Amino acid sequence: MAHVSGHSARTDKNLTRMTSLKDILIRRIALQGPISIADYMAECLMHPQHGYYQSATVFGAGGDFVTAPEVSQMFGEILGLWCADRWIAMGRPNKFYFTELGPGRGTLMADMLRATRSVAGFHEAARIVFVEASAQMKAQQAEKVPGASWHSRFADVPEGPTILIANEFFDALPIHQFEKLDDRWLERAVAAEDSGAALTPALIHAGAQLALVPDHIKSAPNGSVAEVCPAGLTVAGDIAARLSAHGGAALVIDYGYASSAAGDSFQALKAHRYVDPYAEPGHADLTAHVAFDQLAAAAESKGAKTFGAIPQGAFLMAAGIGARAQQLAAGSDPAGQRRILGELKRLTAADEMGTLFKVLAIQSTALPSAPGF
Ligand code: SAH
Repeated sequence: MAHVSGHSARTDKNLTRMTSLKDILIRRIALQGPISIADYMAECLMHPQHGYYQSATVFGAGGDFVTAPEVSQMFGEILGLWCADRWIAMGRPNKFYFTELGPGRGTLMADMLRATRSVAGFHEAARIVFVEASAQMKAQQAEKVPGASWHSRFADVPEGPTILIANEFFDALPIHQFEKLDDRWLERAVAAEDSGAALTPALIHAGAQLALVPDHIKSAPNGSVAEVCPAGLTVAGDIAARLSAHGGAALVIDYGYASSAAGDSFQALKAHRYVDPYAEPGHADLTAHVAFDQLAAAAESKGAKTFGAIPQGAFLMAAGIGARAQQLAAGSDPAGQRRILGELKRLTAADEMGTLFKVLAIQSTALPSAPGF
């Protein structure tokens, strides 16, 4: 009896352990050796069962971080009017793909649609398309935005005139990291400690993605860290090719560098605090700063024209958020007015989201200059 129950207890423990992403990764590393930061990031964020974005409460005060559309309806209203302006500039095509990458809870698209209700013909022409990899996120989006359709990758979105928005999407795409030692670049990777109990950073031979690091970063001194996001460059190039072929415009909003430089921006956020990215895989948001100059170069290489990246605060002010805040405040009581001013400050002030966040426009060369830049 004692022997049998001891055996079943051990089996139960093994079963429980197998359900954690950390153990899955430790087993994989034991078989294959250390994995790149990019593989690690992809597994942590998008593993079909244990990925971060498969879990229920990512956003908002009770989640791990707050995004601009969750801060204020004004963000989506301003972006919606920008999209309507571009649709008019495109000659009001009677059908276009109104595409959003990584829509989260669907709040941004819902606000953009609400703000453009009175733009004659815009809603009738819009085919709302979401690019989303997480089943759990899709369910939330379907509730907020009836009538949308979904694709897992931008490349699968049907071809045609396109207006595209991506807010805090590119920062979630997997990066490779390299470290310069003795005048050589090695790749940062994730290994398992000898005990097999914990994940730990390691250095391995650099993969082919090192070739994507721009020369001005490769020439950084010993001890420097370089990052590159091949998936981001691919998506930016694909968007640009689509806009060049079929007409249209895109806005990419995210935190990152207008001019990329050497540096380590890989970070993990849980419950509004920075945590160790290797401690609890799948339970924290993993991101890296977006290299906007590299995205712009990828887009221009596919024949599109880019504007910016400029700071989010400057863009929103130029696009009219100040007037919108005044209009909302005029119809509010003093408490409402304070809330609206607080939201405006949060989105635009230099010490809040106004400077760290940047906005890049990508357009077909046929369109007049993008407003707000
Ligand atoms: N734009 C939203 C949510 C940002 S969070 C907002 O501003 O509130 C990132 C979003 O991108 C989530 O919806 C996440 O599930 C999705 N996402 C992350 N990586 C992805 C990938 N590789 N492919 C498709 N969607 C992805």
